[in-house]
Amino acid sequence: MKYSLKLKLTLSYALVALLLVASVSLISNIFLRNQFEQYIIRQQESKNEEVVSQIVQQYKKDAKEFPVQALETVGVSALERGMIVKVSNSSGASLWDATVHNNGLCHQMLSDMANNMQSRSPNFKGSYEEKSYPLLISGVKEGTVSIGYYGPFYYSNNDAEFINTLNRMLVAVGIVSLMLAILIGIYMASRISSPIAKAIGAAENIANGNYNDKIKITSNTLELNKLIQSINSLSFELENQESLRKRLTADIAHELRTPLAALQGNVEALIDGVYLPSTERFESCHEEILRLTRLVADLERLAQLEDENTVLNKSTVDLKELSEKVLKSFEAELFRKQIKASVSEESVLLTADSDKLRRVFVNLISNSLKYTPDGGRIDIKLSKLKDTVKIDLSDNGTGISKEDLPFIFERFYRTDKSRNSQSGGAGIGLAIVKKIIEIHKGQISVESEIGRGTRFVIVLPIQ
Ligand code: ADP
Repeated sequence: MKYSLKLKLTLSYALVALLLVASVSLISNIFLRNQFEQYIIRQQESKNEEVVSQIVQQYKKDAKEFPVQALETVGVSALERGMIVKVSNSSGASLWDATVHNNGLCHQMLSDMANNMQSRSPNFKGSYEEKSYPLLISGVKEGTVSIGYYGPFYYSNNDAEFINTLNRMLVAVGIVSLMLAILIGIYMASRISSPIAKAIGAAENIANGNYNDKIKITSNTLELNKLIQSINSLSFELENQESLRKRLTADIAHELRTPLAALQGNVEALIDGVYLPSTERFESCHEEILRLTRLVADLERLAQLEDENTVLNKSTVDLKELSEKVLKSFEAELFRKQIKASVSEESVLLTADSDKLRRVFVNLISNSLKYTPDGGRIDIKLSKLKDTVKIDLSDNGTGISKEDLPFIFERFYRTDKSRNSQSGGAGIGLAIVKKIIEIHKGQISVESEIGRGTRFVIVLPIQ
């Protein structure tokens, strides 16, 4: 059984409120009841003391006795208030005894009290209690009074009413807080669940291929905001991937069309006898075939690198040696364009796939060669940092505009200038470089300024 977040949140608010109110009520009830019992016990004690002082006031000093008539007045009044008074003189002889005066009333009163307490709290264990007090006249004990009552305490009707009102108040507070908790729960739950519902809707839209539908609302809940942001960036990323995929197909078609059209034109002209077979003609056809082969080889390389199971064939690589070797392979071109190339003096070693790193140098140096005018420079600075090595390759060529710079590592991306000129390749070279650096867990960055040159900085872990 699945329940909605809204229902769960509302119920948990209500449950927390219920537990809280129940425990607060229980604790305050126990505490108040206890305090109230102590209060009633103290009340009884002061009633007893009042009776004792009333009896002491009745003492006749000249006759040295307690007049029985006065004792009866005090005793009857005490009996009406639930106290059974027995007074005896200093030699222990009884002077006045409520049970002798009206035994039936005493019994009746005690059993009524017991019944009352029993009906109010069935677990209450009460019984008849008696306390004795000396009757002191000017410090001399002239007799004893014993006061009997229903103990340890007895609630009068007023007291019981007070306790009941208190309990009713706690129940009312409980009900009001429970209702408030449910209302707050419903409000909070809908505030939390509504952005989640929107996020679900957006995720479903994305699943259906509708990437434009971004979630516009924000929430002041940190996690919800992150969820919304993640879904929006997921949709943005998928949208990018989708357009990249579409562009890729179009780009491949475009890249194939140019050399194929040139080949087709040449071959048809040869067949029709418009062109006579000549070495130049065949060389021109061969050049187009080489372009196609290079494109297919680049695509294959990229596909291999993008395969998640690519294994790096690692060994110790000397970057100085490697870059010098690559420069050597471009010797003829460097000489033709009178471009000066330099590599830093010191050897820098790291563990990496040497063939793949070679490809990085080949692609970067061939780009620099392509986009650096005659008489320019290419400098390769190698350095070792703490756990990494840095390759800094710069040229003073045409440079790349600010608008193009963020995209040069994308496949088939070429700046407009290089697209129009014959110098440009298919725009896959830097995509391959980036991929190789990434699978070596390194980073590549580029800085460039039109007319001043371009600088690539690669940082690779030594191990
Ligand atoms: P291409 O095969 O066209 O050289 P790349 O992926 O190697 O493709 O490079 C992408 C684009 O970046 C190039 O078309 C070029 O416009 C630009 N670029 C790369 N390296 C340089 C450089 N050293 N100087 C100027 N532009 C460069």
